[in-house]
Amino acid sequence: MKIHPAAFVLAFSVVIAGAVNAYPGKPDPNVKSSVKSVECAQSLGFDAKMLMGLMSIPSVSTDQDANNRAIDYLKQWLYGRGVYTAVCSNEAGRAVLYASTMPGKKHDIVFVTHVDVVPPSEDGQFNPYVKDGFLYGRGACDTKGNAAVIAHVLANLVGKASVGAVFATDEEARTPGLNTPTVLLNNGYVPQKFIIVGDTNGEFQNSLTIAEKGHAHVRLIAHGRGGHSSMPWSADNPIPKLVDAYRKIAEAFPKAEDPNNHWCDYLSPTKLSGALAGNVIPDTAEMYFSYRFIRMDGPQWIKEFLEKTTGLEVIVREPYRMPVITDRNNPYVKSLYEAMCRKWDGVCITKMSCATDATRYAHLNLPTVIFGAIGFGTHAKQERVSLQSLVEYMELFTEYLKTVK
Ligand SMILES: [Zn+2]
Repeated sequence: MKIHPAAFVLAFSVVIAGAVNAYPGKPDPNVKSSVKSVECAQSLGFDAKMLMGLMSIPSVSTDQDANNRAIDYLKQWLYGRGVYTAVCSNEAGRAVLYASTMPGKKHDIVFVTHVDVVPPSEDGQFNPYVKDGFLYGRGACDTKGNAAVIAHVLANLVGKASVGAVFATDEEARTPGLNTPTVLLNNGYVPQKFIIVGDTNGEFQNSLTIAEKGHAHVRLIAHGRGGHSSMPWSADNPIPKLVDAYRKIAEAFPKAEDPNNHWCDYLSPTKLSGALAGNVIPDTAEMYFSYRFIRMDGPQWIKEFLEKTTGLEVIVREPYRMPVITDRNNPYVKSLYEAMCRKWDGVCITKMSCATDATRYAHLNLPTVIFGAIGFGTHAKQERVSLQSLVEYMELFTEYLKTVK
């Protein structure tokens, strides 16, 4: 996942009778994991040793060789359990794995996850270890733990259900030319009815995420005429134009109707650029924005809004990511939610502010949800995942997918 999300708990219990949010899925750092050891997880059918082996491969997104090793490692494990596997690569040789419980390229239900990770925050994060029922190490919850859950579900369901899974290597940092969905689509692999993304979903416990915002990088450019800072009268300084423009933007940008409900568009200035030296008036000055949006015309809307409000040049960087908003009453969503409620108390439905791989499949217009085993420390030191939660998610999806059509 790209950033920590703010997630929003919905009153889903109103929609589905019997669902009661005993606790609203909020992160609880004191949560206990009853599966205390690798051996205990193994005895419950979860091959924690496989996951630790996967986590020991330093598959930082920029390291293509390590990512290809991680893909091969997972492929071998799946192949050894009868799962159908195929590896596709882009022109540079970067791999993406497609695995399935039945032969073919078009499965109704397809998991999507990734095995690339962000760089370690401290030494030793590629030497995973277990303490108090949590597996520590880079990728534990973002998202090799969830990838391992999906791999186990496929292994458990070979020949018993029709499910596919994408294991990508380009989620944490976009690598030019890979774009996993495109590589797969070019090879004929197309999810048909329902996409289930495995990724850390904000450390919310046993929540089902049904929506996430789109994201676009936007540049606002003020033009002027540069010069020596000792003679401002001979230059046309673009920086005051940019400052003035931002005041107008802050005034005109639509405000959240309810300050506690963040499911709306946000425009965050993130970076400024001007002259290369402190005694130079630049020719141009730029303000960078991160635009998180729920409106389906977001990229066009923000361009027009900024141009109209400021009169300055606006560039919306492509590719941008469109929002994913799934109907909570979709039959797949309802049945999965009900299966979760049978397993856990207090299951909640959430929306995320950030973007996972779900947005990369938005153009397919398929119902899409995101799950994540209970974990903490995403992108940080002490990243960890609950062994108990991994076992429980493996059980959940194994049971659910046996019955769902
Ligand atoms: Zn991440």
